[in-house]
Amino acid sequence: MTGTPVRVGIGYDVHAFAEGRPLVLGGIEVSHDRGLAGHSDADVLVHALMDAIVGALRAGDIGRLFPDTDPAYAGVSSLVLLGRVGELMRSEGYRLLDADTVLVLERPMISPYRDSMRARMAEALGVDIGVIGVKATTTEGLGFTGREEGVAAQAVVLLERAES
Ligand code: MG
Repeated sequence: MTGTPVRVGIGYDVHAFAEGRPLVLGGIEVSHDRGLAGHSDADVLVHALMDAIVGALRAGDIGRLFPDTDPAYAGVSSLVLLGRVGELMRSEGYRLLDADTVLVLERPMISPYRDSMRARMAEALGVDIGVIGVKATTTEGLGFTGREEGVAAQAVVLLERAES
């Protein structure tokens, strides 16, 4: 990657709804009647953001870095993993210039939690809150998100090679 001053990355993730679990999105527990199924805390938004950064680093994907067959990652807070991805980014000589994310879900309403999510993810990455964007959209009742079977998330990031 030497000589490449900027890198872009894209991340996408989906988790199915499951009864009896907390709904954790962007590192925040969101009030809802069910959560998301997954090996970790199933934080679909943080997973998409991590995968975008890992993609920009050309370091594979989060499934390779944090295999869901590894009991060490059972129930782990995805924010902890996001912090590790931030460390990997810095060790590779890059810093996060900007990131934007979108949650795709019918319910619950995300806007009351948006800034808390931004702050939490920014803190885990050691960047200013202004670097991290969060928004949400519905799919007008269409598809698996519209039927409230699960939640999807997308993220894009721009990394800059740190001065050396
Ligand atoms: Mg995931």
